[in-house]
Amino acid sequence: MTDDDTFESAVYYDDDANRSYIDDKTVAVLGYGSQGHAHAQNLDDSGVDVIVGLRESSSSRAAAEADGLRVATPVEAAAEADIVSMLVPDTVQPDVFEAIRDELEEGQTLQFAHGFNIHYNQIRPPEGVDVTMIAPKSPGHLVRRNYEADQGTPGLLAVYQDETGRAKEEALAYAQAIGCTRAGVIETTFREETETDLFGEQAVLCGGVTALVKQAYETLVDAGYSREMAYFECLNELKLIVDLMYEGGLGDMWDSVSDTAEYGGLTRGDDVVNDEVRARMETVLDDVQNGTFAREWIAENQAGRPSYTQLRAAEKSHDIEAVGEDLRSLFAWGGETEGSETEEDE
Ligand code: NAD
Ligand code: MG
Ligand code: MG
Ligand code: MG
Ligand code: MG
Repeated sequence: MTDDDTFESAVYYDDDANRSYIDDKTVAVLGYGSQGHAHAQNLDDSGVDVIVGLRESSSSRAAAEADGLRVATPVEAAAEADIVSMLVPDTVQPDVFEAIRDELEEGQTLQFAHGFNIHYNQIRPPEGVDVTMIAPKSPGHLVRRNYEADQGTPGLLAVYQDETGRAKEEALAYAQAIGCTRAGVIETTFREETETDLFGEQAVLCGGVTALVKQAYETLVDAGYSREMAYFECLNELKLIVDLMYEGGLGDMWDSVSDTAEYGGLTRGDDVVNDEVRARMETVLDDVQNGTFAREWIAENQAGRPSYTQLRAAEKSHDIEAVGEDLRSLFAWGGETEGSETEEDE
């Protein structure tokens, strides 16, 4: 663990993990999608006994079997396991939990990769069961690829319920077995992980950035500029800028762009994303913190996703998607970039 005061949170590395906490255990990995296939294969390669839990009808069964893993139903897998890793989609976790709850016994562990269902009380774990989280901060295909390349994927660790007194040690051992402690595991809480994850994807990563791109694209096109130029300036070049920020922070990005771009950005950026936008970000955060967003999303799912379906269709039909598809197919790089491969099936 980092014992200086560089970080506000505790950060754990390989040496902090003790694999004896997991070596003789059986882990049931429920779901074989993005995270599930990566956790299951990394645990298996690390010598941990793994059983993948999937419905009889699941199209993922063939993939898990082809990868040499034992497959059973979620109920059978949970009954056999010491640790149950809940890696089905967040929206179906409550139903899967209801199906397996009778199999959970004292001393077993229920583990998550995201805190939504525990934090918003959609899953109420039984007494006697440890409840932990190991959340890689990366899509599953990178968790797998990094592991195979002897590299790590940063992750988060949280303990919600520690009935055995060894919840944290066991979670750290799990993090080591999937390769996360090679890069570093930050300690957090279910509340902090859930709220920051939802806020980040809404305000910046998924919501904020797409809205910024669309508004800027429309501004140029409405002013008479070509759709192709608008696409390149407002969407395509974003990757180059984000890569620089990822590698060296805002500073490396400012250093790499022209002085004109830097001065223009420094003088105009705060006018675009101004204090009014900041106030709306606070509203977005309020909705996350007070449960408004969670209640809305749960109700939306219960109603069969009517708004979500409409919003998805509207987004797909935005003009920037049509021009982008044409341009990406015309240009030699074909839109193929690191990490752009599609995710595993549902
Ligand atoms: P996913 O959608 O990629 O995988 C879903 C898997 O669950 C599939 O194998 C599917 O067959 C199975 N499944 C679907 N419905 C099922 C049901 N009713 N019963 C049994 N199995 C069912 O899921 P994911 O994105 O890997 O998410 C899993 C967890 O990991 C979530 O808690 C998510 O928040 C978290 N997480 C995801 C990422 C990511 O990048 N995808 C990153 C960090 C954490
Ligand atoms: Mg995510
Ligand atoms: Mg996230
Ligand atoms: Mg998320
Ligand atoms: Mg330019």
